[in-house]
Amino acid sequence: MSFKNYPMVSRVVFGRGSFNQLSEIIEPKRLNAKAPFVFLVDDVFKGNSWLISKIPLAYKDELIYVSTAEEPKTSQVDALVEQIILNHNERPSGIIGIGGGSILDLSKAVSILLTNEGEAKDYQGWDLVRNPAIYHVGIPTISGTGAEVSRTTVLTGPERKLGINSDYTPFDQVILDPELTKDVPKDQWFYTGMDCYIHCVESLNGTYLNSFSETYGEKAMELCKSIFLENNLTDKEKEDKLMMASWHGGMSIAYSQVGVAHAMSYGLSFLLGTKHGIGNCIVFDHLEEFYPEDVALFKKMRKLNNIELPQGICANLSDEDFDIMINVALSLEPLWENAVGKKWKQTITHEKLKSLYKLM
Ligand code: NAD
Ligand code: ZN
Repeated sequence: MSFKNYPMVSRVVFGRGSFNQLSEIIEPKRLNAKAPFVFLVDDVFKGNSWLISKIPLAYKDELIYVSTAEEPKTSQVDALVEQIILNHNERPSGIIGIGGGSILDLSKAVSILLTNEGEAKDYQGWDLVRNPAIYHVGIPTISGTGAEVSRTTVLTGPERKLGINSDYTPFDQVILDPELTKDVPKDQWFYTGMDCYIHCVESLNGTYLNSFSETYGEKAMELCKSIFLENNLTDKEKEDKLMMASWHGGMSIAYSQVGVAHAMSYGLSFLLGTKHGIGNCIVFDHLEEFYPEDVALFKKMRKLNNIELPQGICANLSDEDFDIMINVALSLEPLWENAVGKKWKQTITHEKLKSLYKLM
């Protein structure tokens, strides 16, 4: 048995208002006046002067607004890399991603593709990246995915939805400023927050569990319960705690694996474009037989927070559509092995998944 030697984020700042320190944090990393910092910012912040005015643009720095209407694609990474190369005479000093999991993943991928030849799709998989990425900074504006701490960047490519998993993927610097999450719409807050809850459930109930994952997972689970089930927290406390839950949930799966909800949600996403957070919720709502107590708790959280989930999204699908989704889900073997054990193929059959998808 060989144990994973896991790279981590090298530096992290936490605190309300810590975003104001961005300039003093990145300025020492500026290579020269011609090597810009490129800021990739969720276009939801266009016209939001409170946030945008705090971005310290200097010299040749560039701010690029990026749409998150769809989940990140390998082609989108390639287009951004080309735009950056064409716009500047020198390789950038750094990439700074400001947004949710989508923007954080794009920023990690762009920083890798600026120093590695070819296209983003060539690096989907495990440990295919040869050269260190350029300096990259992640600044989450919504909490839950753990993308700020993870060793992967999930991308939809021409053939598959798969991460660029590498030692060069994690951020060199993360700024955790919970104040940046204050305007997240309530539904989205819940969906992305539940991504964290589901990370904990799948890690803590998995056969890959170990003390490393358990300690992080238990803490993140405790935080999720207090945020989504109790009403004695202020909004600020909820923002602070969910940002740390996301971090701990990400650390928990780093050393274990996710499970049934993620495997099936990848199928929905591949066929229907269902986004990660809401897709996980749609699936998890029907997983009583795998995670009975945790699904009951999820339903309670949903009711308490007045969140409706789309129903019948698989109602009009053809047999071919089901096949596509089921094949994507079944291809994620480590997730099933973690969830069900080494003999998972005995119970997780094509028919079994079809009957589950039909409920959604
Ligand atoms: P997201 O980044 O797509 O953002 C969700 C929505 O919230 C968007 O409409 C966005 O504009 C909006 N938003 C974000 N911050 C806001 C703010 N402060 N105020 C108002 N609106 C705001 O969603 P997400 O759930 O954070 O991330 C999902 C993505 O993360 C998926 O692509 C998924 O594959 C990926 N992911 C990656 C990892 C990883 O380890 N790399 C883990 C889990 C998920
Ligand atoms: Zn997830």
